Amino acid sequence: MAVDVSRKNQIIIFSIWLLVVPITLYFAKMYFPSRELDWTNLVILFLIMFLTMLLPIQFQNMTISLERWITLTIFLQYGLFIEIIFIQIAMFLILFTEKSTLPITHKFFVNSGIFALTSLLSGAIYHSLGGTIGSMDFSKVFYFGLIYAISYSLINNLLLKVYFHFNSHIFSLTSKGALWDYASTIIMVPFGIALYFLNEHLSNKSLLLVGIPFVIFLFILRMFNSSTTVNDQLSCAAEIGPELADRLLFDEVLETFLVKLKDVVPYDNAYVVDLRSGIDFVPLMGNGRNGITKDVKGILFHDIKKVDDGLDEFFTRIYFNEKEIKSLKNIEFVGNIRSVLTAPIIRNEITEGFLILTSYRKNMFKPESLNLIDILNGFFAISLEKARFYESTIEKGVRCGLTKLHNFAYLETKLEENMGELREGLLSSLSVIMLDIDYFKKINDTYGHECGNVILVKLAELLKSHRTPVTTLARYGGEEFVFILPNFTKKEATDLAEEIRIEVEKTNFAITPDLTEDKPEDKVSIDVNITISLGVATALEDAENAKDLLRNADRALYIGGKQSGRNLVGVYNDVEEAGTKV
Ligand code: GH3
Ligand code: MG
Ligand code: MG
Repeated sequence: MAVDVSRKNQIIIFSIWLLVVPITLYFAKMYFPSRELDWTNLVILFLIMFLTMLLPIQFQNMTISLERWITLTIFLQYGLFIEIIFIQIAMFLILFTEKSTLPITHKFFVNSGIFALTSLLSGAIYHSLGGTIGSMDFSKVFYFGLIYAISYSLINNLLLKVYFHFNSHIFSLTSKGALWDYASTIIMVPFGIALYFLNEHLSNKSLLLVGIPFVIFLFILRMFNSSTTVNDQLSCAAEIGPELADRLLFDEVLETFLVKLKDVVPYDNAYVVDLRSGIDFVPLMGNGRNGITKDVKGILFHDIKKVDDGLDEFFTRIYFNEKEIKSLKNIEFVGNIRSVLTAPIIRNEITEGFLILTSYRKNMFKPESLNLIDILNGFFAISLEKARFYESTIEKGVRCGLTKLHNFAYLETKLEENMGELREGLLSSLSVIMLDIDYFKKINDTYGHECGNVILVKLAELLKSHRTPVTTLARYGGEEFVFILPNFTKKEATDLAEEIRIEVEKTNFAITPDLTEDKPEDKVSIDVNITISLGVATALEDAENAKDLLRNADRALYIGGKQSGRNLVGVYNDVEEAGTKV
């Protein structure tokens, strides 16, 4: 389905291109003035334009290309047709060098169409307002040149907005990227005009004065750029440690790391994959076009972990191109992935998982970044471990070790919380059921404490099957359990209590007594039947606070259940009335 859509999309783009570009060229050639061509001059201008396009400036995660100064010169000097042709050729050549996230043909047709239309429309504005080609009138050239440049930038961004709109991406005309585009276009206008006049006066010599120095300047800027990139990378990396230290929960650690890592190592998709079983790959979280998700879709593992599957368990590795990615035999990436980085997450010398980064661009991950990634991945592994420990400690603190049900402390807190919700009107009613095993002491005395424990665990399992997502089930004490039932009326809670009572009565609890001298192989499993007594109380009719509600359920259990003969459900106001009668 997705493939169909993108193919349909590509066919549409190609059809629009077929319509737009030839017509644009035809119009530009037929209806817009051009001048006699100086081929040497043209070749040099083209080279400067091409080099400028090859040397964009990286700034705050944006790529700013400054070729507009020279395309303005070309336009002012040779007219619209030559400008369009130049840009089309340069763009075609650039395709093979640039790192693109789109299929190469798609990208070409989109860019080619947008550039051609932009040139045609801004050229039309220029000429319709009175701009001419080859003019030597400074103020006219400056004024119309400025108008041309501004309309060029605006139309270009407007067309990009239209394109992104149809591709479900948001592109704002006031985004940082668009604003930088307007600004850099306007800043470049004086350079373009200066080169134009110099070129008119000095012909090719002008390029020695302005063109070549400009390209050299871009080279130097680029070198400076890459060193500031390293500094930026390091300062972003330095933030990761403290950020991770602040996160206590496992998912928070995963999320924070994936988000922050993107500032240090730009990637398109990142995955954290669990290998704690030592065999199965379990993707835990991904970050890609659709943001952070636990429903990881972009990566598939065909098999369990094998020694020869190409995934390095001990060292971080970069797969620079599609051929190298194929050596990861077990992994399939969704989409056109051109480079991959895999980093093992190691604890106590055991690989417990992997961080996997992918990019739609070739050579995206740099060997220079490896050390940094290893350091960050080390932080990440420690933080994950800390979060796991924290979560398990919290979990242990609120659960009973034997039955794994919530404990009394949790019950108290949860009941307070539910009472609050009831008072605020968020719940329509709130009931509790307390239950206690009848004559449990006898079970212990007859079959041993161990068997008693087995019965407690099995009873807990039975009770769990009556939970809903909003109910809380806790082990209140030794052989006493409590259900908190939000939105249960007294009648509904009593019906449930009765249902549970009958189910327990009918259940055979299998135990293997250990009180005899028999050898282990001679031991036999026997079925034991138990009964329970239950008590029901409902807020606010029976109690106005959590403590009273529990106490009254206990009272109902004692009077209506135990005192009345056991294996019974006691309901609070009934027992109160009965109690007062006695
Ligand atoms: P009834 O509730 O019907 O009045 O009688 P009972 O015998 O169940 O009541 P009592 O409260 O006197 O005894 C509860 C027994 O539950 C005492 C104790 O041995 C047992 N018990 C409590 N906690 C555990 C536990 O964790 N494991 C086991 N095996 N027994 C437990
Ligand atoms: Mg009991
Ligand atoms: Mg008891």
